[in-house]
Amino acid sequence: MQRFLPVLGFLLATSVNPSQKAFGLDERYHTYQEVILELDSLHNTFPEITRLDSIGHTTRDSLAIWCLKISDNPLLEEDEPAILLLGNQHADEVLGVEILMWMLSELLCRYRTHDVRATSWIEDLEIYVVPMWNAEGHTAVEAGLTWWRKNKRDNNENHLFDYYDGVDLNRNFSLGWEQGDSIPDSFFYRGPAPFSEAETQAVRDLSRQKRFIITVDYHSPTYGRPEVIYFPWIRSERGGYAPDRWVIERIAYNMASRITKDSGIGHYDWINGGAGNGYHRTWQYEKFAAVAFTVEVSDTTIQDPDMVDGICRRNLPGIYYLFDRAAGPGLTGLVTDALTSQPLEAEVIIEEAYNPNIAARTSDPVFGRYRRLLQPGVYSLRVEKESYHTRSFTHIIVRDGEWTELAVELEPEITSSPEIVSLSRGFYLEQNHPNPFNQRTVITYHVPTSGAVKLEIFDLSGRRVASFLEPVEEMGSHSIIWEASGASSGIYLYKLTTA
Ligand SMILES: [Zn+2]
Repeated sequence: MQRFLPVLGFLLATSVNPSQKAFGLDERYHTYQEVILELDSLHNTFPEITRLDSIGHTTRDSLAIWCLKISDNPLLEEDEPAILLLGNQHADEVLGVEILMWMLSELLCRYRTHDVRATSWIEDLEIYVVPMWNAEGHTAVEAGLTWWRKNKRDNNENHLFDYYDGVDLNRNFSLGWEQGDSIPDSFFYRGPAPFSEAETQAVRDLSRQKRFIITVDYHSPTYGRPEVIYFPWIRSERGGYAPDRWVIERIAYNMASRITKDSGIGHYDWINGGAGNGYHRTWQYEKFAAVAFTVEVSDTTIQDPDMVDGICRRNLPGIYYLFDRAAGPGLTGLVTDALTSQPLEAEVIIEEAYNPNIAARTSDPVFGRYRRLLQPGVYSLRVEKESYHTRSFTHIIVRDGEWTELAVELEPEITSSPEIVSLSRGFYLEQNHPNPFNQRTVITYHVPTSGAVKLEIFDLSGRRVASFLEPVEEMGSHSIIWEASGASSGIYLYKLTTA
């Protein structure tokens, strides 16, 4: 049966004049254009600590998705813990926009008045804020579609914006995408492929670059539970709970306990959320071990405008707690090649928070940096990379309120092996050890008589790289140590003769 399509109502959404005041939302709420103007104004007021960039453009209308970065030296990619705060993944869940715009103004004002905490956050962290992720969906809400949730992808390719359109941006990430809803006119449509949407691609690409240690998505409940923080995860096919649940749940609890409910009584709840389904939160945790939260603000999507200021004020202590928490406790360090000092992307395993069935937690390829938030305690670390010797550390003490630094140098394995080319009668050359070798190796030989022997080592071009003349006092077993730290990796040949 053909559905009724209220096409005219939707066409209003696409033809709204941005200079007009939106009629779908109370003017207490920001429009897309107002967000741009305000971000621009904040950036122009604080150019030394902000950077305003578009991280991508929306799928249908190509609206810029704006991100304000707050940090000292904002134009540099510094080796600092990075946090990502996102509002409005779902178009009608507009309270997140308001919380983040309020937070930005307040944080920058606190910096201006030399507030000590705000100054240290800005110096020590990189804070990325995307107040209106689903910008084109939000413009549909502004135009009167106050229940619109998705973006505006033209699913039925009829060049009209209608009921069949849109992808749920919180079902379009790759982890468990196949479990999502495949029906295009569903409110929860997952999209034609993982990361099919420009909006999810934008956050994916930024996250791959920055490897956020904390991410927060601000939602508001249409169907689900109000005033709650979801943390990762319950995932039965991957061993149940997150292997560092004891860290993540504590952070979720501490954040929730700082956000008073709208009623003024009690604070937000914190619960273990499901995994998969193409969610953003669980993708962040799976890929980067991010402490990734979804906050369901208030008890409805578009709240009474008189309540908005209070909701913003009550949510800010939760954000500021996360900024403080990003200063530790945790374990961090640089992983480098022991010979070249080059940064390495290596698997970094904290034995107490390890599940081999989820994606490897790695150091980043740019700095070689690993960073894991932990509770104070004693930990064991193992760092692995193909073609390198694994390194293990035990009894690492992580103290409260700071990052414990542990640099890890990995020794490359020498994969080639020297070959024996001479086996004279009466001489017996043993396989050198260790082999492959790095700094030095021991070559053992047996001689039947006393006298002198000469051991020579050649590279494959025939160039002699070392030579030993050894007086032999008595027959039997003898050893020579080759100090090979100056030799490049490769195959060497050695030869033993009587001198
Ligand atoms: Zn939502």
